[in-house]
Formats: sequence, C-alpha cells, structure tokens
Amino acid sequence: MARKTIGIDLGGSHVLAAVVGDDGAIVARAEHDIVDHDFESVVKIIGAAVDEANASSKERVETIGIGSPGDIDAATGAVRYSPNFGWHDAPLGARLTERFGCAVVVANDARCATLGEYTFGTGRGTHDFVLLTLGTGIGGGIVAAGELVRGNLGGAGEIGHHQLRATDGFICGCGKTGCFEAQASGLGLIRHALAIAPSFPRSTLVSGKPEKLGSKAIRKAAEAGDGHGRAAWARYIDDLASGLANVIAFVNPECIALGGGVASAGAFLIDAVTPRVDALTTMVPRGMTRIVAAALGNDAGAIGAATMARRGGLSARASV
Ligand SMILES: [Zn+2]
Repeated sequence: MARKTIGIDLGGSHVLAAVVGDDGAIVARAEHDIVDHDFESVVKIIGAAVDEANASSKERVETIGIGSPGDIDAATGAVRYSPNFGWHDAPLGARLTERFGCAVVVANDARCATLGEYTFGTGRGTHDFVLLTLGTGIGGGIVAAGELVRGNLGGAGEIGHHQLRATDGFICGCGKTGCFEAQASGLGLIRHALAIAPSFPRSTLVSGKPEKLGSKAIRKAAEAGDGHGRAAWARYIDDLASGLANVIAFVNPECIALGGGVASAGAFLIDAVTPRVDALTTMVPRGMTRIVAAALGNDAGAIGAATMARRGGLSARASV
C-alpha cells in the first residue's frame, strides 16, 4: 500500500473504522457501538475503533477520511448540524487531527457511501450514477458527468427529503410531511404496514408490539403471500417508484443503486419496482436507467471515506 489510509463510517449507533487499500479492499477493520451521543464520548469511541483497526501494523497512518451524519463544513471538517447526534458546530475534523496527528477529511456519510459505491461498486464505469440507501432513513448521493454533486453548501444529494405526499403522507424526521424518506425508507415500509393494519385484523404481522415490527418481517410476509404483507409492500413499492422516477427526471442517471436493509431483498425488490418506475418515467426513454442492488453493502461508507481522504476531498475524479 502506497499510503496508509483509514476510512471511518460514523453512524448513530455504531462506528466502522477500516484500513482501506488503494484498490478499495478493506485490509483490517474494527466496529464499535455508540451508546452516548455526547461529542467527546463519540470522539473517544472513534479513536478506539481506529486504534483497533490499525493495531496489526506499525506503519504510520497518513490520512483519515470520515463520513458523519449531518451537514458538514468541508473547509473546517466541523459538523454544522447533526440531528442524529444533537450536535451543532462539533469540531470533528479538528479533534481527530489532534488525536492522530494526520490529515483528516470529513464529509456527509451518504456522500461518502456514494463515492465508495461509484468508485468500487455498481457505479464503476458509469458517469451518471445515484446511490440510495434504504435504511432507517434514505441517504443518497449523485454523480453527474463523472463528478460527485456537492452543491453550493455541500448539501446536494438530500434526495430523501423531496416530498412525495405533502398532504397525506407520513411525517418525516425533518419536520415535513410525506418526504421520500418518510414513505420509502425501511421505517416507511413499517409505517405502511401499521397504517393499513386495521384492514387486516387477523394479521400475524402486528400481533406483537408495534415497535417490534421490522421491515424484514414485512418483506418476508409479502414474499410468502401474506395479505397484509403484500398490501404494505405494494404501497411501499408505489412510493419508492415515485421517488426513483423523480430522481430519473432530475438527473437522468445511467444507474441507480439501492443499498440499505430493504435492498437486501434483492430481486424481489428490483423486479417489483422497475416496471413501476418505467411507467412513471415520462420525459426520457423508459427502461434506460438500470436499477440494481448496491454491491458494497455496509462497507461503502468507510471505503468511500478512505477514497476521499486519499484524494484530499470529496471528489469522484481519481486526480484532484
Ligand atoms: Zn424529510
């Protein structure tokens, strides 16, 4: 390895630190749970994860890249605002530089995952690409004409917060109603199932506590032909397809990769959503955007963060 680089994917409940090779392969890794969202506690846990991932070799770490939830100031590496952590102007980059004595580059976690998936996963070889992670929320990122779209203040790619159902949708974590994220994330699938539950009084899906209901159980029920599961899944697919068709209208990508928990459904998801997206695609030829399951899974963020660190910034171009 020419330069030892560490990529960190910081999530609300856990952190992954990985030594990543030039080829995007993870050489060593460490994952730690985050229980306390206090800034100094999180910095301590990140430090422990990096030390553990780095323990196998004495070689000095040259650069660190970290993807964090929230709005990031690219110039200072500070987290301007992160609702997940409750942070305002948290000097994440500066504290990690102090701790490790090397250059640290900070960016939004979803943008890092997009860079990873674009460079080493399903985006390889394309120039116009979108990653959407369907987890608790919907994280996203856009590559247009071979470059990651960052926007004026680094906020481009917040695809999860375009509104699909402004009057009759679920309330989103951002405060708006019917955002793509509220309707089509993993949590959105659960909300669809709960919303129609009164129509299925004998459903086994909601026989336990509602908070125990998971998106995987609903998908499995849909796959098995359960009436409640199928109805929830159909509503979910409709909303997901609306959002994907909007993405196609906005940026006309060659490929949209779907990651996150719901995308682990693979062909069951892709085969259901693709014809619906085609039906809603009106201004460009239908069927020209490949919709695929993302390849790097939960590693995309750390791999992308390391790629960003090596390049000195959040760019999809190999030479910055
Ligand atoms: Zn929203």
